[in-house]
Amino acid sequence: MSRFAVPLALAFLCLSCSRAPRPRVEFVLGTLCSVTLFERGGAADYDAVFARLQEIEDSMAFTPGGAGGLSELDLVNLNAGIGPVAVGAGLLEVLEEARRYAELSGGAFDPTVGPLVALWGIGGENPRVPAGEEIQAALALVDWRDLVIDRAAGTAFLRRRGQALDLGAIAKGYAADQAAAVLRRGRLRRALVDLGGNIFALGERPGRESWRIGVQDPLEERGNYLGVLRVKDKSVVTSGVYERYFEEGGRRYHHILSTRDGYPVQNGLLSVTIVAGRSIDADALSTACFALGPERGLALVESLPDTEAVFVGADRGLTLSSGAAGLFTLAGGDYRIISTSSISNTR
Ligand code: ADP
Ligand code: MG
Repeated sequence: MSRFAVPLALAFLCLSCSRAPRPRVEFVLGTLCSVTLFERGGAADYDAVFARLQEIEDSMAFTPGGAGGLSELDLVNLNAGIGPVAVGAGLLEVLEEARRYAELSGGAFDPTVGPLVALWGIGGENPRVPAGEEIQAALALVDWRDLVIDRAAGTAFLRRRGQALDLGAIAKGYAADQAAAVLRRGRLRRALVDLGGNIFALGERPGRESWRIGVQDPLEERGNYLGVLRVKDKSVVTSGVYERYFEEGGRRYHHILSTRDGYPVQNGLLSVTIVAGRSIDADALSTACFALGPERGLALVESLPDTEAVFVGADRGLTLSSGAAGLFTLAGGDYRIISTSSISNTR
């Protein structure tokens, strides 16, 4: 169940670009992160990007209680029901965006999902299927409306004891945007940032071409693509059942949890890929749309500017947003593009 994250974009890119420069790859943000500069830039530029990623890890608790000590986010969680905690501008921004997506998705995406995530332990050493009462108790603590952000004071507060924030569904997107910002400030205009599959394809490929980003086939080994998205200066982020999961009693339990019933979301979807100008949006939306299911997810995507989506159903049917059709090409294989209604939304 390791989080094996060979950069999707790079693997694909190398097929088409034999002179692709070597990426710098480091383990940060709890995953393998790779950055490739395609124009200019050298060690100092890579250093600057990875330094920024490390700062984000330190403030947003990717490894709770890890070597880095308590993060700002840990402190907010420890002070739930007690009092507001001063946090930096970065965390404040991510919390505001998380709350916005919680509202937009009617709570299907919820950054206060922490107690539920901890209970299931998915991605940790000892994941397990909790008892029904445990799930109910954790679920009672999940409510994004209990997150109080005071912009003027620069503080964040969870109203009730036991509540906890988990930014696993949005922080890597923020980090990818920050990496892109560092590169743009350095006037580096062509680059690929891949934070464990959370991709920012900066600018154009040499020759004014689009980047070709593979969409993982959720039913195959990593590196097998069901199709390709052609994008310029966009982020591409996927949430899927294959990313983090464990198996018990012959069933697979994945890591996107329903804030309605407390179990992994089951709605006939295997993955959702979002294309957007900002990675924080693509990241939050990939999780939100997965949780919402194809119909409501698609409606959300269509309501937003500069945002496209590819929904992959367990029946190997794909649902594309209106603008995704022009970006997406099937790779062959058994997948086909269908209409929204033929994926059933059971939960
Ligand atoms: P990945 O971590 O693979 O990039 P996602 O962006 O979809 O995948 O984030 C999933 C993570 O978000 C989970 O591991 C968990 O930490 C958290 N999470 C789970 N369910 C929800 C939810 N309903 N709303 C917000 N965050 C969630
Ligand atoms: Mg996400």
